[in-house]
Amino acid sequence: MSWFNKTVSTFIDKVPPSTIAIFAKRYIAGDKLDDAVNVSKKLNKEGAMTTIDVLGEFVSTKEETEHYRDLAIKVLEEIDKSGIEANLSLKLTQMGLKISRKLCLSNVEMILKRAKELGNFVRIDMEDSTCTTDTVEIYDSFRETYNIGAVLQAYMRRTINDIQYLSDKPMNFRLCKGIYDEPRVIAYKDYDIVNENYKYCLETLFKKKAYVGIATHDEKLVFHAEKLIREYGLGKDEYEFQMLLGVDEELRRIIIENGHRIRIYVPFGKDWLPYSIRRLKENPNIIKSAMKGYLK
Ligand SMILES: Cc1cc2nc3c(=O)[nH]c(=O)nc-3n(C[C@H](O)[C@H](O)[C@H](O)COP(=O)(O)OP(=O)(O)OC[C@H]3O[C@@H](n4cnc5c(N)ncnc54)[C@H](O)[C@@H]3O)c2cc1C
Repeated sequence: MSWFNKTVSTFIDKVPPSTIAIFAKRYIAGDKLDDAVNVSKKLNKEGAMTTIDVLGEFVSTKEETEHYRDLAIKVLEEIDKSGIEANLSLKLTQMGLKISRKLCLSNVEMILKRAKELGNFVRIDMEDSTCTTDTVEIYDSFRETYNIGAVLQAYMRRTINDIQYLSDKPMNFRLCKGIYDEPRVIAYKDYDIVNENYKYCLETLFKKKAYVGIATHDEKLVFHAEKLIREYGLGKDEYEFQMLLGVDEELRRIIIENGHRIRIYVPFGKDWLPYSIRRLKENPNIIKSAMKGYLK
Protein backbone atom coordinates (compact mmCIF):
# COMPACT_ATOMS: atom_id res chain seq x y z
CA MET A 1 0.00 0.00 0.00
CA SER A 2 1.35 3.45 -0.91
CA TRP A 3 1.80 6.12 1.80
CA PHE A 4 -1.20 8.01 0.31
CA ASN A 5 -3.51 4.99 0.54
CA LYS A 6 -2.33 4.21 4.10
CA THR A 7 -2.92 7.81 5.18
CA VAL A 8 -6.41 7.91 3.65
CA SER A 9 -7.35 4.58 5.26
CA THR A 10 -6.12 5.76 8.66
CA PHE A 11 -7.71 9.20 8.69
CA ILE A 12 -10.89 8.81 6.66
CA ASP A 13 -13.00 8.25 9.79
CA LYS A 14 -12.11 11.83 10.83
CA VAL A 15 -13.14 13.45 7.52
CA PRO A 16 -16.44 15.39 7.67
CA PRO A 17 -19.40 13.54 6.07
CA SER A 18 -19.96 16.41 3.60
CA THR A 19 -16.47 15.81 2.16
CA ILE A 20 -16.88 12.03 2.05
CA ALA A 21 -20.14 12.53 0.15
CA ILE A 22 -18.24 14.16 -2.73
CA PHE A 23 -16.15 11.02 -3.30
CA ALA A 24 -18.79 8.44 -2.34
CA LYS A 25 -21.49 9.50 -4.82
CA ARG A 26 -20.40 6.99 -7.46
CA TYR A 27 -21.11 4.03 -5.15
CA ILE A 28 -24.69 5.00 -4.27
CA ALA A 29 -27.82 5.28 -6.43
CA GLY A 30 -29.24 8.18 -4.37
CA ASP A 31 -31.39 8.86 -1.31
CA LYS A 32 -34.64 7.39 -2.57
CA LEU A 33 -36.02 4.06 -3.76
CA ASP A 34 -36.86 5.76 -7.07
CA ASP A 35 -33.13 6.43 -7.55
CA ALA A 36 -32.34 2.71 -7.12
CA VAL A 37 -35.14 1.77 -9.54
CA ASN A 38 -33.91 4.27 -12.16
CA VAL A 39 -30.29 3.08 -11.85
CA SER A 40 -31.54 -0.53 -12.14
CA LYS A 41 -33.51 0.34 -15.30
CA LYS A 42 -30.37 1.82 -16.85
CA LEU A 43 -28.25 -1.20 -15.86
CA ASN A 44 -30.92 -3.63 -17.13
CA LYS A 45 -30.71 -1.84 -20.50
CA GLU A 46 -26.95 -2.39 -20.50
CA GLY A 47 -27.53 -6.12 -19.90
CA ALA A 48 -26.94 -6.26 -16.14
CA MET A 49 -29.33 -7.37 -13.38
CA THR A 50 -29.21 -5.62 -10.00
CA THR A 51 -29.58 -6.31 -6.29
CA ILE A 52 -31.00 -3.37 -4.33
CA ASP A 53 -29.73 -2.62 -0.81
CA VAL A 54 -31.36 -0.22 1.66
CA LEU A 55 -28.40 1.47 3.37
CA GLY A 56 -28.34 1.24 7.16
CA GLU A 57 -26.75 -1.19 9.61
CA PHE A 58 -26.25 -1.98 13.30
CA VAL A 59 -29.54 -0.31 14.28
CA SER A 60 -30.34 -0.12 17.97
CA THR A 61 -34.14 0.14 18.35
CA LYS A 62 -37.04 -2.12 17.48
CA GLU A 63 -38.81 0.80 15.75
CA GLU A 64 -35.86 1.38 13.44
CA THR A 65 -35.81 -2.31 12.47
CA GLU A 66 -39.51 -2.11 11.63
CA HIS A 67 -38.91 0.97 9.49
CA TYR A 68 -36.17 -0.84 7.53
CA ARG A 69 -38.24 -4.05 7.29
CA ASP A 70 -41.16 -2.12 5.76
CA LEU A 71 -38.80 -0.34 3.39
CA ALA A 72 -37.30 -3.68 2.28
CA ILE A 73 -40.81 -4.96 1.55
CA LYS A 74 -41.50 -1.77 -0.40
CA VAL A 75 -38.36 -2.42 -2.46
CA LEU A 76 -39.64 -5.89 -3.37
CA GLU A 77 -43.05 -4.47 -4.30
CA GLU A 78 -41.52 -1.69 -6.39
CA ILE A 79 -39.29 -4.21 -8.22
CA ASP A 80 -42.42 -6.18 -9.05
CA LYS A 81 -44.39 -3.10 -10.13
CA SER A 82 -41.65 -1.61 -12.30
CA GLY A 83 -40.69 -4.94 -13.89
CA ILE A 84 -36.95 -4.43 -13.36
CA GLU A 85 -34.63 -7.44 -13.15
CA ALA A 86 -33.55 -7.04 -9.55
CA ASN A 87 -33.60 -8.72 -6.17
CA LEU A 88 -32.97 -7.55 -2.60
CA SER A 89 -29.81 -7.57 -0.49
CA LEU A 90 -30.36 -7.36 3.25
CA LYS A 91 -28.20 -6.80 6.36
CA LEU A 92 -29.18 -8.71 9.50
CA THR A 93 -27.96 -5.95 11.85
CA GLN A 94 -30.49 -3.67 10.11
CA MET A 95 -33.19 -6.22 11.02
CA GLY A 96 -32.19 -6.15 14.71
CA LEU A 97 -29.62 -8.95 15.00
CA LYS A 98 -27.76 -6.98 17.69
CA ILE A 99 -30.98 -6.26 19.62
CA SER A 100 -32.47 -9.75 19.70
CA ARG A 101 -32.22 -12.74 17.39
CA LYS A 102 -35.95 -13.37 17.79
CA LEU A 103 -36.80 -9.86 16.56
CA CYS A 104 -34.37 -10.25 13.65
CA LEU A 105 -35.85 -13.61 12.64
CA SER A 106 -39.38 -12.26 12.71
CA ASN A 107 -38.48 -9.17 10.57
CA VAL A 108 -36.52 -11.28 8.08
CA GLU A 109 -39.30 -13.85 7.78
CA MET A 110 -41.86 -11.15 6.91
CA ILE A 111 -39.58 -9.98 4.08
CA LEU A 112 -38.91 -13.54 2.89
CA LYS A 113 -42.65 -14.30 2.81
CA ARG A 114 -43.32 -11.24 0.63
CA ALA A 115 -40.39 -12.10 -1.64
CA LYS A 116 -41.78 -15.59 -2.11
CA GLU A 117 -45.26 -14.27 -2.90
CA LEU A 118 -43.72 -12.00 -5.54
CA GLY A 119 -41.45 -14.72 -6.94
CA ASN A 120 -38.34 -12.80 -5.93
CA PHE A 121 -35.18 -13.59 -3.96
CA VAL A 122 -33.38 -12.16 -0.90
CA ARG A 123 -29.63 -12.25 -0.38
CA ILE A 124 -28.38 -11.85 3.19
CA ASP A 125 -25.15 -9.78 3.15
CA MET A 126 -22.31 -10.94 5.39
CA GLU A 127 -21.26 -8.35 7.96
CA ASP A 128 -18.36 -8.39 10.41
CA SER A 129 -17.23 -11.55 12.21
CA THR A 130 -19.49 -10.92 15.22
CA CYS A 131 -22.38 -11.78 12.85
CA THR A 132 -20.97 -14.77 10.94
CA THR A 133 -22.32 -17.66 13.02
CA ASP A 134 -25.77 -16.08 13.35
CA THR A 135 -25.88 -15.35 9.62
CA VAL A 136 -24.92 -18.90 8.66
CA GLU A 137 -27.48 -20.35 11.08
CA ILE A 138 -30.29 -18.00 10.01
CA TYR A 139 -29.62 -18.76 6.34
CA ASP A 140 -29.64 -22.48 7.15
CA SER A 141 -32.94 -22.24 9.04
CA PHE A 142 -34.76 -20.47 6.15
CA ARG A 143 -33.19 -21.95 3.05
CA GLU A 144 -35.62 -24.85 2.57
CA THR A 145 -38.72 -22.66 2.89
CA TYR A 146 -37.82 -19.38 1.17
CA ASN A 147 -35.90 -17.97 -1.80
CA ILE A 148 -32.82 -16.98 0.14
CA GLY A 149 -29.08 -16.84 -0.37
CA ALA A 150 -26.17 -15.77 1.84
CA VAL A 151 -22.63 -14.46 1.43
CA LEU A 152 -19.28 -16.12 2.13
CA GLN A 153 -16.04 -14.19 2.64
CA ALA A 154 -12.83 -15.73 1.27
CA TYR A 155 -10.71 -13.92 3.89
CA MET A 156 -12.35 -15.88 6.74
CA ARG A 157 -10.44 -18.99 7.79
CA ARG A 158 -13.74 -20.72 8.65
CA THR A 159 -15.35 -20.31 5.21
CA ILE A 160 -14.30 -23.66 3.75
CA ASN A 161 -15.73 -25.36 6.86
CA ASP A 162 -18.98 -23.39 6.53
CA ILE A 163 -19.28 -24.72 2.97
CA GLN A 164 -18.78 -28.29 4.24
CA TYR A 165 -21.28 -27.73 7.05
CA LEU A 166 -23.96 -26.34 4.71
CA SER A 167 -23.41 -28.74 1.81
CA ASP A 168 -26.05 -31.24 2.95
CA LYS A 169 -28.74 -29.19 1.15
CA PRO A 170 -28.79 -26.95 -1.98
CA MET A 171 -26.63 -23.86 -1.49
CA ASN A 172 -26.88 -20.33 -2.92
CA PHE A 173 -23.96 -18.06 -2.08
CA ARG A 174 -22.36 -14.83 -3.11
CA LEU A 175 -18.62 -15.37 -2.78
CA CYS A 176 -16.60 -12.21 -2.05
CA LYS A 177 -13.18 -11.49 -0.51
CA GLY A 178 -14.62 -9.67 2.55
CA ILE A 179 -14.51 -5.97 3.46
CA TYR A 180 -14.24 -5.74 7.26
CA ASP A 181 -11.00 -5.40 9.20
CA GLU A 182 -10.80 -8.77 11.00
CA PRO A 183 -8.01 -10.06 13.28
CA ARG A 184 -5.42 -12.46 11.86
CA VAL A 185 -6.49 -15.32 14.15
CA ILE A 186 -9.76 -15.64 12.25
CA ALA A 187 -9.00 -14.07 8.85
CA TYR A 188 -6.26 -14.34 6.24
CA LYS A 189 -4.47 -11.00 5.96
CA ASP A 190 -2.25 -11.80 3.00
CA TYR A 191 -3.61 -10.74 -0.42
CA ASP A 192 -2.34 -13.86 -2.22
CA ILE A 193 -3.73 -16.26 0.39
CA VAL A 194 -7.14 -14.56 0.22
CA ASN A 195 -7.10 -15.00 -3.57
CA GLU A 196 -6.00 -18.66 -3.28
CA ASN A 197 -8.78 -19.29 -0.77
CA TYR A 198 -11.28 -17.56 -3.08
CA LYS A 199 -10.32 -20.00 -5.87
CA TYR A 200 -10.43 -22.98 -3.48
CA CYS A 201 -13.88 -22.02 -2.11
CA LEU A 202 -15.26 -21.28 -5.59
CA GLU A 203 -14.18 -24.66 -6.95
CA THR A 204 -15.51 -26.44 -3.85
CA LEU A 205 -18.87 -24.68 -4.31
CA PHE A 206 -19.02 -25.64 -8.00
CA LYS A 207 -18.17 -29.27 -7.10
CA LYS A 208 -21.04 -29.24 -4.61
CA LYS A 209 -23.37 -27.80 -7.29
CA ALA A 210 -24.02 -24.55 -5.42
CA TYR A 211 -25.38 -21.52 -7.25
CA VAL A 212 -22.63 -18.89 -6.89
CA GLY A 213 -22.68 -15.13 -7.30
CA ILE A 214 -19.03 -14.56 -8.18
CA ALA A 215 -18.58 -11.14 -6.57
CA THR A 216 -15.25 -9.58 -7.47
CA HIS A 217 -13.59 -6.84 -9.54
CA ASP A 218 -10.28 -8.68 -9.46
CA GLU A 219 -9.62 -9.66 -13.08
CA LYS A 220 -7.37 -12.55 -12.01
CA LEU A 221 -10.31 -14.09 -10.15
CA VAL A 222 -12.71 -13.35 -13.01
CA PHE A 223 -10.30 -15.19 -15.32
CA HIS A 224 -10.07 -18.13 -12.91
CA ALA A 225 -13.86 -18.27 -12.52
CA GLU A 226 -14.36 -18.30 -16.32
CA LYS A 227 -11.89 -21.19 -16.56
CA LEU A 228 -13.78 -23.17 -13.89
CA ILE A 229 -17.15 -22.39 -15.51
CA ARG A 230 -15.83 -23.93 -18.74
CA GLU A 231 -14.26 -26.94 -16.95
CA TYR A 232 -17.45 -27.69 -15.02
CA GLY A 233 -19.61 -27.10 -18.13
CA LEU A 234 -21.92 -24.71 -16.28
CA GLY A 235 -24.93 -23.26 -18.11
CA LYS A 236 -25.47 -19.48 -18.05
CA ASP A 237 -28.23 -19.72 -15.45
CA GLU A 238 -26.16 -21.84 -13.02
CA TYR A 239 -24.02 -18.92 -11.75
CA GLU A 240 -23.72 -15.14 -12.06
CA PHE A 241 -20.99 -12.54 -11.72
CA GLN A 242 -21.56 -9.66 -9.32
CA MET A 243 -20.00 -6.21 -9.03
CA LEU A 244 -20.56 -3.04 -7.04
CA LEU A 245 -22.12 0.10 -8.48
CA GLY A 246 -19.40 2.59 -9.42
CA VAL A 247 -16.54 0.10 -9.74
CA ASP A 248 -14.70 -0.86 -12.98
CA GLU A 249 -17.46 -0.43 -15.54
CA GLU A 250 -15.13 -1.59 -18.29
CA LEU A 251 -14.73 -5.02 -16.63
CA ARG A 252 -18.53 -5.11 -16.24
CA ARG A 253 -18.92 -4.64 -20.02
CA ILE A 254 -16.26 -7.29 -20.74
CA ILE A 255 -18.09 -9.84 -18.56
CA ILE A 256 -21.39 -9.08 -20.33
CA GLU A 257 -19.74 -9.31 -23.77
CA ASN A 258 -18.24 -12.68 -22.77
CA GLY A 259 -21.83 -13.91 -22.48
CA HIS A 260 -22.15 -14.15 -18.68
CA ARG A 261 -24.97 -12.86 -16.50
CA ILE A 262 -23.94 -10.13 -14.10
CA ARG A 263 -25.70 -8.45 -11.18
CA ILE A 264 -24.78 -5.00 -9.86
CA TYR A 265 -25.14 -4.12 -6.16
CA VAL A 266 -27.21 -0.91 -6.02
CA PRO A 267 -27.39 0.70 -2.56
CA PHE A 268 -29.66 3.63 -1.81
CA GLY A 269 -30.81 5.58 1.23
CA LYS A 270 -29.93 8.26 3.70
CA ASP A 271 -27.61 6.13 5.84
CA TRP A 272 -24.79 6.10 3.32
CA LEU A 273 -21.84 7.00 5.56
CA PRO A 274 -20.49 3.65 6.92
CA TYR A 275 -20.93 1.99 3.51
CA SER A 276 -19.10 4.85 1.77
CA ILE A 277 -16.25 4.87 4.27
CA ARG A 278 -15.69 1.13 3.67
CA ARG A 279 -15.67 1.66 -0.11
CA LEU A 280 -13.22 4.58 0.08
CA LYS A 281 -10.89 2.72 2.48
CA GLU A 282 -10.93 -0.09 -0.06
CA ASN A 283 -9.89 2.22 -2.87
CA PRO A 284 -8.30 5.49 -1.73
CA ASN A 285 -7.19 6.05 -5.36
CA ILE A 286 -10.72 7.40 -5.99
CA ILE A 287 -9.84 10.35 -3.76
CA LYS A 288 -6.50 10.81 -5.51
CA SER A 289 -8.02 10.93 -9.01
CA ALA A 290 -10.89 13.18 -7.90
CA MET A 291 -8.34 15.59 -6.38
CA LYS A 292 -6.29 15.57 -9.60
CA GLY A 293 -9.45 16.32 -11.62
CA TYR A 294 -10.36 19.15 -9.23
CA LEU A 295 -6.89 20.70 -9.44
CA LYS A 296 -6.98 20.59 -13.27
C1 LIG B 1 -21.79 -7.51 -5.37
C2 LIG B 1 -20.88 -7.44 -4.18
C3 LIG B 1 -21.40 -7.64 -2.91
C4 LIG B 1 -20.57 -7.64 -1.80
N1 LIG B 1 -21.07 -7.98 -0.57
C5 LIG B 1 -20.24 -8.09 0.48
C6 LIG B 1 -20.69 -8.60 1.71
O1 LIG B 1 -21.85 -8.98 1.89
N2 LIG B 1 -19.80 -8.67 2.75
C7 LIG B 1 -18.50 -8.30 2.60
O2 LIG B 1 -17.73 -8.41 3.55
N3 LIG B 1 -18.05 -7.79 1.44
C8 LIG B 1 -18.88 -7.69 0.37
N4 LIG B 1 -18.40 -7.22 -0.82
C9 LIG B 1 -17.07 -6.56 -0.89
C10 LIG B 1 -15.96 -7.55 -1.15
O3 LIG B 1 -15.80 -8.38 -0.03
C11 LIG B 1 -14.64 -6.83 -1.45
O4 LIG B 1 -14.28 -6.03 -0.38
C12 LIG B 1 -14.66 -5.97 -2.70
O5 LIG B 1 -15.41 -6.57 -3.71
C13 LIG B 1 -13.22 -5.78 -3.23
O6 LIG B 1 -12.65 -7.00 -3.52
P1 LIG B 1 -12.33 -7.50 -5.00
O7 LIG B 1 -12.66 -8.93 -5.09
O8 LIG B 1 -12.98 -6.62 -5.98
O9 LIG B 1 -10.75 -7.44 -5.10
P2 LIG B 1 -9.71 -6.28 -4.83
O10 LIG B 1 -8.37 -6.92 -5.01
O11 LIG B 1 -9.99 -5.57 -3.56
O12 LIG B 1 -9.99 -5.28 -6.01
C14 LIG B 1 -9.72 -5.59 -7.37
C15 LIG B 1 -9.72 -4.28 -8.16
O13 LIG B 1 -11.05 -3.76 -8.17
C16 LIG B 1 -11.05 -2.36 -8.01
N5 LIG B 1 -11.81 -2.00 -6.79
C17 LIG B 1 -12.09 -2.79 -5.74
N6 LIG B 1 -12.84 -2.13 -4.84
C18 LIG B 1 -13.02 -0.89 -5.33
C19 LIG B 1 -13.71 0.27 -4.88
N7 LIG B 1 -14.37 0.32 -3.72
N8 LIG B 1 -13.69 1.39 -5.66
C20 LIG B 1 -13.04 1.38 -6.85
N9 LIG B 1 -12.37 0.31 -7.34
C21 LIG B 1 -12.36 -0.79 -6.59
C22 LIG B 1 -9.62 -1.91 -7.89
O14 LIG B 1 -9.19 -1.48 -9.16
C23 LIG B 1 -8.88 -3.17 -7.52
O15 LIG B 1 -7.58 -3.17 -8.01
C24 LIG B 1 -19.19 -7.29 -1.95
C25 LIG B 1 -18.68 -7.08 -3.23
C26 LIG B 1 -19.49 -7.17 -4.33
C27 LIG B 1 -18.88 -7.00 -5.68
